[in-house]
Amino acid sequence: MRSSRGTEVMVVGAGPTGMLLSAELARRDVRVRLLEKRTGPAEHSRALGVMPRTMEMLESLGLVDEFIGQGHRVHGGKIYGREQRLLATMDFRDLPTRYPFMLLLPQTRTEAILRNALEESGVDIEWGTELKGFCAEKAGLGVRLTTTAGSQEDSCGYLVGCDGSHSLVRKGVGLEFAGAAYQQNWLLADVTLEPRLDPEFMHLFACPTGPILFFPLPERVWRIVAMRPGTASDAAQAKLEEILGLLEMNQLSHLRPHHPLWVAGFSIHHRRVDHVRRGRVFLCGDAAHIHSPAGGQGMNTGLGDAMNLGWKLALAVKGSGTETLLDSYETERIPVIAGVLELTDRLTRVMTAKAGPAVWLREWVLPVAAKLGANRKMAQRLSQLTINYPHSPAVLPDARRSPRMIPAGGRIPPLVLQNAETGQEVQLMDLLSRGRLVVLVFTDGEPPMESFRKTVATVGSMDWHWVISSGKKHKDIRSGEGVWRDREGLVRAVLGDPEQESWAILRPDGILMGRGEICETRLLGEFLHRLFGDSERNSNVSGP
Ligand SMILES: Cc1cc2nc3c(=O)[nH]c(=O)nc-3n(C[C@H](O)[C@H](O)[C@H](O)COP(=O)(O)OP(=O)(O)OC[C@H]3O[C@@H](n4cnc5c(N)ncnc54)[C@H](O)[C@@H]3O)c2cc1C
Repeated sequence: MRSSRGTEVMVVGAGPTGMLLSAELARRDVRVRLLEKRTGPAEHSRALGVMPRTMEMLESLGLVDEFIGQGHRVHGGKIYGREQRLLATMDFRDLPTRYPFMLLLPQTRTEAILRNALEESGVDIEWGTELKGFCAEKAGLGVRLTTTAGSQEDSCGYLVGCDGSHSLVRKGVGLEFAGAAYQQNWLLADVTLEPRLDPEFMHLFACPTGPILFFPLPERVWRIVAMRPGTASDAAQAKLEEILGLLEMNQLSHLRPHHPLWVAGFSIHHRRVDHVRRGRVFLCGDAAHIHSPAGGQGMNTGLGDAMNLGWKLALAVKGSGTETLLDSYETERIPVIAGVLELTDRLTRVMTAKAGPAVWLREWVLPVAAKLGANRKMAQRLSQLTINYPHSPAVLPDARRSPRMIPAGGRIPPLVLQNAETGQEVQLMDLLSRGRLVVLVFTDGEPPMESFRKTVATVGSMDWHWVISSGKKHKDIRSGEGVWRDREGLVRAVLGDPEQESWAILRPDGILMGRGEICETRLLGEFLHRLFGDSERNSNVSGP
């Protein structure tokens, strides 16, 4: 039996969400146990699409090259209506990111990459270990588990349910999973396809029997997803012949799938919780939200949850994150989750409609709206690049003085700095690769730094970087602090304030936490104290 006294965070479920969260915690030296009731990795792939925002997050973990190396890039998707008329093309190519494409990678491979990363950070997945129950204890939680060797009791500081749609953790804290099942049932098949469609795009045919989608995967495999007409049961055995029949019925029989690797039936639901935190218990991923796979948002949203919670929870475990910081996980993610459900529901209804106004909308309004820019807006939304948290308690609101400035709570765009000594270029996001908060100080003069230093020093986990437009170095720069040139002043214009000696704080999840003037530290001090300054935290936390 494994002895694990001193588990700081217990993560339940080694799907993509639980693995990413565990990696995020482990790299901040949090003692994590990762439980998985399956006895080994999943064999079949569900999610395929990795979105640009997810790739940006994977970049900060040093994993993005591995993902891109194994995946298949597509520019976007093409939507066809009656008589296979092209209605709209959704193109990711001009999105403002270093990853202006969608990556198609079977979820089994996504999970394999995350497993390797976890192994390197020293976390073992505890296969065959199932959470059976938990309860509040004086300074944490008591948990009951079963392992291949028998039952076990343990305790932990925090419990995170990444345990999928049937989450025991969610049920254990009594949170409702409100929503419903969609009426339709679906088929999927991973096949060889001849002749191939253009492999640089996904293809969606809105057919008389319902949508049929084609996704190009690595190694010339295609995934076909098709709506089953009528009320065929999800449990009915899925066979390639059924897909062949649907292709024939919809004049798509020139596309011939063969050599199926996997054929399956599935049904879809839209459900979500209203809360993702109850005291020391958190929910992430499918445990908190499930929805239609239209738009490929599910896994990406779960990974976004993990990135949002990981650094906050690590700070709380180490005694320098307050209740307010932990609460901001819910304040920030619940609107994102609600938005994803609303978007995927709308897409599903328009694409599955066989009659009525939704068909008219799809056949006649969509092509016009696409020409007017709606397809660009949709690409931005699906890419998840527009997710931001302007109203969060973990963001210091600011008044933007120029349209170039991104608002506090916004995503940090791709920007480049030059090393002040060598001139070598680095991506601004590279400064976040240590997983810590980063303060950028924008100065050319010699503003008094003492009060600002003292204010920021209250946060233990903060890396300092100086951004200097001219060649002049500030006398206050200390050893270990980065010094960068901002040749065209772009970084300062976007994140700082070009007219003032200013600062910007960047969060490890790629969000601008706030900006301000060097000389005005009162508001900053109060803000940092609310998030990082309450050493009484542990004694105030209520149980689940
Ligand atoms: C057909 C299909 C296609 C999809 N396509 C896409 C797509 O293109 N893009 C996208 O973003 N999403 C897609 N999704 C959704 C995506 O697969 C899920 O959102 C994703 O798997 C969620 O990951 P997760 O880690 O939150 O949960 P899961 O992957 O469900 O992992 C939960 C884990 O918890 C374990 N567990 C459960 N209970 C316990 C317990 N008590 N103790 C220990 N372990 C436990 C389970 O065994 C499981 O391994 C698709 C889904 C389907 C069905």
